[in-house]
Order: sequence, then C-alpha cells, then structure tokens
Amino acid sequence: MDTKAFKRSLQHSENYHRKGFGHQAEVATQLHSEYQSNLIQQIRDNNYILQQGDVTIRLAEAFGFCWGVERAVAMAYETRKHFPTERLWITNEIIHNPSVNRRLREMEVGFITVEAGNKDFSVVESGDVVILPAFGASVQEMQLLNEKNCKIVDTTCPWVSKVWNTVEKHKKGDYTSIIHGKYNHEETIATSSFAGIYLIVLNMQQAEYVADYILNGGNREEFMTKFSKGCSAGFDPDKDLSRVGIANQTTMLKGETEQIGKLFERTMMKKYGPQELNQHFQSFNTICDATQERQDAMFGLVEEKLDLMMVIGGFNSSNTTHLQEIAVDKEIPSYHIDCVERIKSVTSIEHRLLNGNLEITENWLPQGKIVVGITSGASTPDKVVEDVIEKIFALKL
Ligand code: SF4
Repeated sequence: MDTKAFKRSLQHSENYHRKGFGHQAEVATQLHSEYQSNLIQQIRDNNYILQQGDVTIRLAEAFGFCWGVERAVAMAYETRKHFPTERLWITNEIIHNPSVNRRLREMEVGFITVEAGNKDFSVVESGDVVILPAFGASVQEMQLLNEKNCKIVDTTCPWVSKVWNTVEKHKKGDYTSIIHGKYNHEETIATSSFAGIYLIVLNMQQAEYVADYILNGGNREEFMTKFSKGCSAGFDPDKDLSRVGIANQTTMLKGETEQIGKLFERTMMKKYGPQELNQHFQSFNTICDATQERQDAMFGLVEEKLDLMMVIGGFNSSNTTHLQEIAVDKEIPSYHIDCVERIKSVTSIEHRLLNGNLEITENWLPQGKIVVGITSGASTPDKVVEDVIEKIFALKL
C-alpha cells in the first residue's frame, strides 16, 4: 500500500480531524481542575524540594505529563464536547494512565477491546467518532475506520509522526528501517505499519547480534527465530541488511537509541568503507524532547543521596519503565506504582518489577529522616503524584 498517499488523502477527508474543535479554553479549565496539583506547583516553585517532618521530597526537574499527552487528552475532552450525542470510541487507551482512562469512561467514551493482540472494531459503526491515541494507530486501522465511514480524531503526537516520516524516507530510499522499540508496543506497531522493510530491535544486545550478522554472517534460521515477531513479512537477513536506516519508539532510553545508531554506523563503515557510508546508512534524530528531558532529570536525581525512589506511571507505560530502570541500575530501592492505592500501609507496598510482575514489598518505608526521590512518566497527571506524596507524609506522621 502507498501509505503516504493514503495518509494524504485521509487528511483531506471531511471525516478526519487533527486539530481541536475550538473548545480549548473551556477544556483547559476542566483539565486543570481534574489533573493539576497546587502542591506539585509549590514544590516546583521551591526548587523541586519539600520538607515536612521526617520526610524530604526531591522531585525530578522534569517529570509527568508531556506536551503530546496533554494535547491528546485535551483533544479527547474537546471531542466529547463537540460530539455530545455521537458514540465515541478510543482505539485502546488514549495514553497509558489508568486515572485518565477511567475519567474518559465516565464521559462515556468506549474503549476498543483487544483480544490476543487484535483490536475488535466490530462495535464501531458508520457515523461513530473514533479517537486515535497519542502514540498513533496503524495505517491498517486508519484504513478500516475510514472504510467504515467513521469520524476520525487523530491525536497522534507530532513527535511520533516525525518517526513515521523517517521510516517513509527509508522506504523511499530502499533502506531497511531498524526500529529500536518493543515489537508489541502500540507506537512501534503503528510505526512499522508505515515502514517498508523493517526489523525491530529491543536493545543493544539484539542490535549487536544484527551488527555481527551484517559483518560476519551467521545462522539464518536462528536469526529468523529471534526476530520472528519483529520484522516485515518476507524479511531476509542475507538480502535486507545492506542498507539500513535507524528509527525508534519515542519513549525508549535515549542513550541506548544513540548507541544503537552509532553501532550500525560503525558496522556499515567497516563493511563498505567511509566513502560508501551514505549509501548504506541513514540516521535522523527521532528521540522525543520530553522523553529525553525526563530521562536526563532522572539521571541527575539518582546521583543524589536518596533513601528510596517512587516512580509513578501506568504499568504499560514504556517511558515510566525506563525511568525505573535508571533507579534500579543505581541500586536505589525504587517502587514503580501506577496509583496511590498501591501503597497499602506503612509496611507494605505493591509495585511493578522491571520484568512486569507485581510484587509486594514489606517494610518499604524506612524509619527516621528520609529523602524520597519522585518522578512520573509522561502520561501521569500531577494529581496522582500529589496523592502519593500526601500518603507518604501521612504514613510518616
Ligand atoms: S513522550 Fe514524546 S512522543 Fe510521546 S506523546 Fe509525549 S511528547 Fe509525544
């Protein structure tokens, strides 16, 4: 499919909306009262520190709602106002945050269910309004909704669209897109749907395996087994790795994406020589600023003397998990929670481990004076962070 031409024709359709509907001011007040926090603002204004009793809170200097998420949530609220009686759907979650998604359910926004990785669009009828989330939707989904004659409200973050443009450029130049991401993450699924030939690598280890294959060849069968879920149909490692371009899921660890880019640059230079490099390697900067700022702030925060870290964000939020990884690497006791209710008591907390499992830790809150580092993912409202801070203060009274 000519994805570029399809996107262009969709954008000219009267059923397609990617700007607000003129209710910005009204919605801004509503969002402020539902998601913002005076306490968090006070801490920001106080150089990201707040001390109360035995507890010192150290907030990361960049955290929480990013521009793209705020924009998507505002557009969803505006859509409800603009289409008060139409049936309204979201393809999966608008963002990875349970409190925002709960609020949208209260506003009678339906969520398309996912069965074994496939979305069930059978509930959507002609004339319904469907909101595409901040991390985008695949071109096949857009096509299906367009054929169903739905009104599409596209809240895809411009940073994500920038990655789509990058893979379109790879496709045009006959480069294979090497996408640093998680093959089953919504954003990477969407990005790969715009790519031509692609291969998804999760981390440096997988990237090194591919680079080694490029330089030295290897076991084709083993390669295909390893990447069976993360490559385009008909992918052939012996044929499709002679020209590569780099793209990424915008919420991956920035440093890792950069290292992966450099690794493939070195690999192609070694294989084809510096004169031929541009013929075999392409790289554009597609790391989102918000992800970068939050990760940089976290790297700064974990250098301080902290007794524990609270990392707050949805359990399927990739950028939150990466913030947690930074704390774990530093061997700081760190708890990834998605809402205040995970804090059961002064002695017990339920939290998500990096492997995705939930665990209950006893005696998590040290006695006496403590310094608590706090950060939150790009889809976490300040209100949720406030609830966590208030709870810690209450438990330490
Ligand atoms: S994290 Fe970046 S790419 Fe994702 S929604 Fe926010 S601004 Fe956009």
